[in-house]
Amino acid sequence: MIQTALEDAAAALGGWEQYVKSGDKVLLKPNLIAPRRPEEAATTHPEVLRALIRILQARGCQVFVGDSAGGAIGGTAPTAKALMVAGFAQVCDEEGAVLLNFDREGAVPVSSRTKHVGAAFHIARPIVEADVVINVPKLKTHSSAAYTGAVKNTFGCIPGLRKAAYHRDAPDLHVFGEVLADIHLACKVQLNILDGIVGMEGAGPTNGKPRPVGLLLVSDDALALDTVAAQVIGLDPQQLEVLQAAARLGVGEGDPARITLLGDMSTIPHVPFLIPTSYKTIRRAPHWLLPALIDFLRTQPQIDGAICKQCGICRGSCPVDAIDTQFKIDYHKCIDCLCCQELCPHGAVRLVRKNRLARRLIPVKH
Ligand code: SF4
Ligand code: SF4
Repeated sequence: MIQTALEDAAAALGGWEQYVKSGDKVLLKPNLIAPRRPEEAATTHPEVLRALIRILQARGCQVFVGDSAGGAIGGTAPTAKALMVAGFAQVCDEEGAVLLNFDREGAVPVSSRTKHVGAAFHIARPIVEADVVINVPKLKTHSSAAYTGAVKNTFGCIPGLRKAAYHRDAPDLHVFGEVLADIHLACKVQLNILDGIVGMEGAGPTNGKPRPVGLLLVSDDALALDTVAAQVIGLDPQQLEVLQAAARLGVGEGDPARITLLGDMSTIPHVPFLIPTSYKTIRRAPHWLLPALIDFLRTQPQIDGAICKQCGICRGSCPVDAIDTQFKIDYHKCIDCLCCQELCPHGAVRLVRKNRLARRLIPVKH
């Protein structure tokens, strides 16, 4: 049934051949915010991925599924666990797709338009190397941004802990929205498919409640898709900072009156979601608070000389040559991608908090 709905949606847009051709390496970028089970509705449902994988393989494409989990603000990177718990590993295994943990794949610098958080973003290498990127977000409310969908979903293309630094350096939601839109444009997404079959309302993006909606939205315009989806769940898209920022940066169409809906209009539901109570409180919080909190919780990779076997795998995989011949990390160069930690075969790379007090009070769980 999902497969049929996706085929119908693609047909309404002119057919899959508008987006993919035989032999393409197609990367699916779902929402893998945290190690949550599919029925919790925090992550893209694996059955949506299964349907997409089957459609794309039938068209002769090689399909990859990849992401980097959230958690960076708290100084953790649970991507490997999240890929298992969310059901992505199983569906890739069953369908013959290639599963990618973005925290293991290296990063490539891509120019930033806004320069809000530096001249370039370090984007997960598979995003840059794919022939086609299909963004597969989840329909959810969000405790600070009110809504999260297609534009915001590509933030997971920043591997490892660097996401926290971007939050810290752009705490104002108007500015952070432009960072998100900037990253979205850098990822060169060709198609967006929103999983709103069961969304999440309330304290999203991880702690809300599942809310059945029965909606799949498909568009090559992430902003138009988010504009429609926000209206479906009872939000005014013109009041959402991230969507307004995306409009300013030219991501797509943000004016509801100028968006054309294709397909069966009678099936577009209106399902007002519970909006998180923290949303307005967080907006009133002083802007220094979030950077201070992120700095306090900040972690960095550290090589334990007592465990390290000097095999050199971490040095060879570091995308910015931040590890010297003595296997010491240059933190001025390090981009927190966590390749070294993910690839060390001896478990010699650990995350430690930078702040000594935080190290004692809130040690990192390994
Ligand atoms: S990969 Fe691990 S064991 Fe090998 S050099 Fe790096 S830290 Fe040491
Ligand atoms: S040292 Fe290199 S591989 Fe390790 S987190 Fe930093 S940038 Fe990534």
